[in-house]
Amino acid sequence: MPGRSEPFAHAEELLDEASMPSGRRASAVFRLTLSFMLLMVVTFMGVEGWRAWRDYRQAYATAQDAVKNLAQATAQHAEDAVRQVDVITAELRERVEGDGLTHINIPRIRALLDQQTKIMPQLQGIFVYGPTGDWVVTNQYITPETANNADRDYFNYHRTHSGRGILIGEVVKSRSSRELVIPISRRLNNPDGSFAGVLLGTIKVSYFLDYYGDFKIDDKGALVLALRSGHVLVRRPFVSPATDQSLAQSEIFTRYLPESDEGIAEVTAVIDNTQRLYAYKALASYPLVVEAGLSRDSFVGPWQHDLMKTGLVLLALVASQCGFGAIVLTQLRARFVLESKVRSAHLAVQNMALTDSLTGLCNRRKLDITLNQEIERTRRQKTQLALIMLDVDYFKRFNDRYGHPAGDDCLQQVGRAIQQTLKRPADFAARYGGEEFAVLLPDTDSTGASQVTEEILQAIRDLNIEHEDHPCQIVTASAGITTAAPDKEPTTGAAMLKSADAFLYLAKRKGRNRWCSKETIDAEKFVAQLPFELKPR
Ligand code: GH3
Ligand code: MG
Ligand code: MG
Repeated sequence: MPGRSEPFAHAEELLDEASMPSGRRASAVFRLTLSFMLLMVVTFMGVEGWRAWRDYRQAYATAQDAVKNLAQATAQHAEDAVRQVDVITAELRERVEGDGLTHINIPRIRALLDQQTKIMPQLQGIFVYGPTGDWVVTNQYITPETANNADRDYFNYHRTHSGRGILIGEVVKSRSSRELVIPISRRLNNPDGSFAGVLLGTIKVSYFLDYYGDFKIDDKGALVLALRSGHVLVRRPFVSPATDQSLAQSEIFTRYLPESDEGIAEVTAVIDNTQRLYAYKALASYPLVVEAGLSRDSFVGPWQHDLMKTGLVLLALVASQCGFGAIVLTQLRARFVLESKVRSAHLAVQNMALTDSLTGLCNRRKLDITLNQEIERTRRQKTQLALIMLDVDYFKRFNDRYGHPAGDDCLQQVGRAIQQTLKRPADFAARYGGEEFAVLLPDTDSTGASQVTEEILQAIRDLNIEHEDHPCQIVTASAGITTAAPDKEPTTGAAMLKSADAFLYLAKRKGRNRWCSKETIDAEKFVAQLPFELKPR
C-alpha cells in the first residue's frame, strides 16, 4: 500500500502547482517586461535630451565667440579708419593755422592732400572751409557750383564751439562726389582764437560696407557702426541714412552700454525687429559704438535641424522598440493564456483522477494519499486519527430488485448523507469502491469516532430509501472503526484500512445496520466473562 501511494503523492504536488496564482505571476512578468521597455525608452530619451542640450550650449557658445570676434574686428577697423583721418587733420590744421588762411599755399596743400588720399583708401576727401563756409582748398578737382558748406551741421557746430577736438558727424551726401560720407571735422582758429573756418575729412560709407561685406554671416546677421548717441552711420544689411535710424532706444544703448563698454546680449533689434545675439563695443578713443549680431536662427537653426534628424531616428527607434515590445508582450500573453489553459486542463485531469464520478466524493486514490498524509500529521501533532469504513447493507439485493440505475441513485444519496454529516473542515469522506465508503477524522479518539459513525448511520437510515429485501425495509449501512496514535504506535494507511475493514466485517456478522470497533468487542468480552446473574438483560 505505501508503495502504491508514491505516484499519487507526486500527483498531489502537481495539483498544488497547478493551483498556483498563475494570473499574478503572469501580470508580474508583464509588469516587469513593460517596466524594462519603459526604462529603455526613458533612458534613450534622457541620453538624447542631454546630448541635445549639450549641443545647444555648444552652438550658443560658438555663436558668442563669433559675435565677440566680429565686434572686436569691426571696432578695430573703425578705430583705425577714424584715427588716420584724425591724425592727418591734426597735421593739416598745424600748417593751415601756421600759414594763416589768407596766405595759404593752395598748390602745396593740395599736393599733400593728394598724396594722403592715395594712401588712405577710406578717405573720400579733405576740405578746408573759410569762416563763411566757402571752399578754400580741397583735394577734389571738381568744385560744385554752390561750394559753400556753411549750412552743414558740423560747420555750425565748430563756429559756435571753440573745442579743438574732432567731431564725427552724421552721414551726409558729398557735394563733390554724391557719395555717402562720414564727416570728421576740426575747427580752425585765427591767431587770436577767433573762428577761422573748418577742416573736414570725409570717410566713405562704402569703405565700411565693403569691409563688412567680406564677413561670412547669414542674411539676418548684422554689423553696425553707430555714433555714441545711437545714430547709425553704417549698417550691414544697408539702411539708408535718409531713414534716420537710431539705436538710442535699443536695449543695448539703454540697458547694457551704460553698465559696460563691451559685452554680449541677446536682444531684438529696433531696426528690423529680428532677435539676435549681439556683441557690442564702445570705442575707447572715439564716440563710436560697433555691434555685431547673429540671428538666433543662424546658430539655433543647424542645431534644430540636427535635433529633428536625431529626433526622427529616436522616434523610429522608440517605435520599433514599442513594436518589438508589443510582439513580445503579445507572445507572452499568448503563452500565459496557453499555460493557464494547460494548467486548467491539468487541474481538471487531476480532479478527475482523484474524484469519484458517481458520488462526487474523493476516490480511493485520494483516500490513499490523504490517509498517509494524515497519519504523518497526527504523528507530528501527537494526536489520534480515526478511520471509518462503511458498507451499504444488502446492496446486491437492492440492485437486483430496483435495478442498477436505482442502485447508483442510492449510492449518490448515501454519499451526500455521509458528506453532510461531517462538520469539521479536516474531516474527509471518500468512496472506497462499490458500495463502500471511508471517512477520515483527524484529531479524533474512539469515542468521538463512534459518535460520528452513529450520526452517519442514522443519516443513511433517515434517507428512508425503500429496500423491500432488507429486514428493516429501508437502506442501512454497517461500519467498522479504527483509531491510531502513530506517535505512540507506528502504523500505516494499509494497516488502518485492514483494521477498519475487519471491524466492518464483524459489524456485518453481528447483523448489519450497526458499527463495531475495538472498544465494542472489548466490552462484549468483558460482559461474556461476567457471572450469569451480573450480565445485562
Ligand atoms: P452485505 O450486506 O454483506 O454488504 O451484502 P451486499 O450485497 O451489500 O454485498 P456484496 O458485496 O455481495 O454486493 C455488493 C454489490 O454492490 C454488488 C454490486 O453489484 C453492487 N455494486 C457495486 N458497485 C456498484 C455501483 O457503482 N452501482 C450499483 N448500482 N451497484 C454497485
Ligand atoms: Mg461490499
Ligand atoms: Mg454491502
